[in-house]
Amino acid sequence: MTDRDLYRELSENIGMRNSQIVPRLFELIADKREAELLLALPSSAGDYAGASGVSEDEVEHMLEDLFVKGVVFKKRSGKGVLFRMSRDVVQFHDASILWPEAPRAFLDLWQDFMDEEWPVISEKAQKSGTRPVGRVLPVGESIDDKQQILACEDVIRIIDSADRIAVTNCTCRLTARKCDAPVEICLQVDAAVEYTLERGTGREVDREEARRLIYEAEEAGLIHATMNREGNLHFICNCCPCCCMVFPLLIHRNLNTCDPSRYRAVVRAADCTGCAECLARCYFGSISIDQQSGVASVTAGSCMGCGLCSSTCPENAISLVEVRDADFIPS
Ligand code: SF4
Ligand code: SF4
Ligand code: SF4
Repeated sequence: MTDRDLYRELSENIGMRNSQIVPRLFELIADKREAELLLALPSSAGDYAGASGVSEDEVEHMLEDLFVKGVVFKKRSGKGVLFRMSRDVVQFHDASILWPEAPRAFLDLWQDFMDEEWPVISEKAQKSGTRPVGRVLPVGESIDDKQQILACEDVIRIIDSADRIAVTNCTCRLTARKCDAPVEICLQVDAAVEYTLERGTGREVDREEARRLIYEAEEAGLIHATMNREGNLHFICNCCPCCCMVFPLLIHRNLNTCDPSRYRAVVRAADCTGCAECLARCYFGSISIDQQSGVASVTAGSCMGCGLCSSTCPENAISLVEVRDADFIPS
């Protein structure tokens, strides 16, 4: 078997049979022996050592190294530790970019993947009717009636009810570098914290610092997003419209890569002075100023309910109102 075949097989293992780039990413992250080990997973270190003839110490060392690189994951049970490789290309992307010693060539290759192959994959996912994996979290203070907001869509309540929080770099901005928005600003919650700290890919923060990071994100015009389900949330992303693997496809190709929040912005015409501050805050082209009245209005169909327009309106003339039922968020 040639090296090329090993890396092609690894690519196939995460659903990337036809990718030209993913095998090269694996080549940068694993040498031939490590690639053979990856292809034998899931396995314990002992089982692989027994089957391959490599010493258990050496296998453990290789697995630990691949874990830090973000291509191997651990499952602990009473029987010991079972190792598996990345489930799919998104998990490979999110974890391996945070490899603390990732060479620039590796990050650049990920960006090539994002530019050349990711749009096609996203288009296919949309055609298959798969629900987006992420959803927008609204800026909480923009919502008119606070009673209606669910715990799983209130970014501050998610932070306040978390046992542990960590901050990591934003993988998209780390690779794309198209803007100067903050990079160390993605929050990991509860179960994801232990993983982050064990790999050394982030640092633990208290609730106060987490809230400060959220406000910093809002000030920088970043969109909060999380997993598209109502419970067991592992991260709060703070996305820009340029580097992100999600929003540029939605904005420029009209792909349904992220669900909106359950809210929509509305402008109180009587309070609006037509200053146009909100226009620059909306990445989805949902706000326009009427030439005659000089008042802002929101196009309902494209509003993602992020609340960024509302949080900087000097007249406090925009609020978010509920437009989707609670069961819009998958359980
Ligand atoms: S999805 Fe958004 S916050 Fe998360 S890594 Fe990408 S740009 Fe950063
Ligand atoms: S920021 Fe507020 S006041 Fe200014 S145009 Fe938008 S809605 Fe009107
Ligand atoms: S109008 Fe634009 S900025 Fe305001 S909530 Fe909707 S999508 Fe967000």
